[in-house]
Amino acid sequence: MRIGHGYDVHRLVEGRRLILGGVEVPYERGLLGHSDSDVLTHAVMDALLGAAGLPDIGVQFPDRDPAYENISSLTLLARVRDLLSARGYTVGNIDATLLCQRPKLRPYIDAMRANLARILGIPQSDVNVKATTEEGLGFTGEGLGIAAHAVVLLK
Ligand code: MG
Repeated sequence: MRIGHGYDVHRLVEGRRLILGGVEVPYERGLLGHSDSDVLTHAVMDALLGAAGLPDIGVQFPDRDPAYENISSLTLLARVRDLLSARGYTVGNIDATLLCQRPKLRPYIDAMRANLARILGIPQSDVNVKATTEEGLGFTGEGLGIAAHAVVLLK
């Protein structure tokens, strides 16, 4: 078994959709970045790649490559899945945490879990997603951005 950790941050700005775990969450702002800026899926991918001892998503999917502009991060997750399966790895479980002051994410969590589980070909019960505020503190608390942590176990 191998363990991996991923962490990502994106800035919240006007004029962008808010995509988390492949779910479009209604909100007046969205995450800024080259792809769809799905901070949750990015953290999950980096955890998976980290567990496999592979370079991170910045190396796999460079943000200067126009091929990845506004691409769905679930599409990138499928590529990470294929990299891992080619090396004989299967995903044991994932535990992820979103750090987000607003909007409230509880209504969307199960849809995020379902998306990640579907792409990875594992049961939804093996994909946990949690959301917490940081009590108004720091950049997530001030609503400047959203952060995500993920821990995965590969077998
Ligand atoms: Mg990112």
